[in-house]
Amino acid sequence: MSSAKQGPVTKTAPRFARCPKCQELIDAASETCRFCNAHLSPGELEESAKLQQKLTEAKSRANDRSAMITAIAGLVGAILLYGLWFLARFMTR
Ligand SMILES: [Zn+2]
Repeated sequence: MSSAKQGPVTKTAPRFARCPKCQELIDAASETCRFCNAHLSPGELEESAKLQQKLTEAKSRANDRSAMITAIAGLVGAILLYGLWFLARFMTR
């Protein structure tokens, strides 16, 4: 029997969690808060890390959307400008 092949080990970026005591952003893998030295329970930290990841994902999604809107607005603006320029040329002929 061969051992189940795991997918490529993806080195994930350090996950962040909020210290339940001082609310500072800390490494989710740490056992004590580096700000207030509180002992952190892995379960509590895991919940916080998940929440933090969700927040980060939501933020990056919002960024994507606003970047797309900016790109579309720029394109529409360029087309409108070109249309005006074309019309102006056409009318002054
Ligand atoms: Zn703390």
